[in-house]
Amino acid sequence: MKELLTKAEITHKLTKSEIIQLLSTDAINEELFKAADRVRKQYVGDAVHLRALIEFSNYCRQNCCYCGLRHSNEKIDRYRLDAATIIEFAENAKNMGYKTVVLQSGEDMSFTADKLIFIISEIKKLDVAITLSIGERPYAEYKAFREAGADRYLLRIETTNRELYKKYDPDMDYDNRMRCLKDLKSLGYELGTGSLIGLPDQTVEDLADDILFFSEIGADMIGMGPFIPNPDTPLAAAEGGTFTRAIKMLAITRLLMPDVNIPATTAMETLNPEGRMIALQSGANVVMPNVTEGDYRKKYLLYPGKICINDSPFKCINCITAKIKSIGRYVSEDYGYRAKR
Ligand code: SAH
Ligand code: SF4
Repeated sequence: MKELLTKAEITHKLTKSEIIQLLSTDAINEELFKAADRVRKQYVGDAVHLRALIEFSNYCRQNCCYCGLRHSNEKIDRYRLDAATIIEFAENAKNMGYKTVVLQSGEDMSFTADKLIFIISEIKKLDVAITLSIGERPYAEYKAFREAGADRYLLRIETTNRELYKKYDPDMDYDNRMRCLKDLKSLGYELGTGSLIGLPDQTVEDLADDILFFSEIGADMIGMGPFIPNPDTPLAAAEGGTFTRAIKMLAITRLLMPDVNIPATTAMETLNPEGRMIALQSGANVVMPNVTEGDYRKKYLLYPGKICINDSPFKCINCITAKIKSIGRYVSEDYGYRAKR
């Protein structure tokens, strides 16, 4: 097993069955995390890129079975920010030193292409990189957003197991999701994808396929996190993913894709109070602090137990910066594009 790790650390290649072997044992977890940490240091260094996350609408036309924003969930208190507020939050983020603004929402079609183009071009004037995470849209809209100044796009495949995808994303179509990812790549976005770890009936084979898929699609960023059951969804009674499994997925992904950007995700910190720092020491090099202000951050409830819902953006950046320094790392001062070799 240790030989497998050495091979992965040197060649950055593993077969599906080798990935499955690593996922199936906990015997060498510590060695795996350390190897991923060394590869992270060698390829992307000690810098941690911060991305300012603005959760601008929790309306969603989709009905993903795991997600609290799904349209059938009547318990959630819906909100959408107006353009001026979104731009103001972005300005505040810029003033706090952020170099990237991430605009995330449910699939809220009341944000028409024109409205989004206006918001993107206004935020672009602040001289920040812009990441969109607003779900599936037609090619023409992706193209228009790119031309308006969007640099990156996050769209998780969620799971590469088509049957599970169909079951848990009932209104969606796997092939259309794939079409979106390919369109985004061809338009020159830095492409972010990723998956949920611990969906009911998801196997280690599926997870190994997920990792191989990230590489195949040529992703520049990989965001993974444990699935956390939400009581207001059809998967309320599911077991959910474990922290250890999520960190192992992260570490193996770093071994195989040494120069990509990998966030330490909020869902990891929900399951472990030191989750993001452990992730940063097991292959991750990005953190996405929330800069949504006021009560909205409480209402953007994908899953329960979301961290920092009562904190201000100012508190979040100070807190995360101190934590990053405490593990011997530093906050990057550049835009944090993928450090391609
Ligand atoms: N609507 C957009 C962006 C918002 S959802 C989209 O779906 O791409 C952002 C991510 O939240 C999703 O990709 C999903 O992987 C994650 N998510 C949703 N419900 C979750 C849950 N119960 N536990 C963990 N992550 C969840
Ligand atoms: Fe909507 Fe995204 Fe949640 Fe699916 S995961 S219901 S698309 S917000």
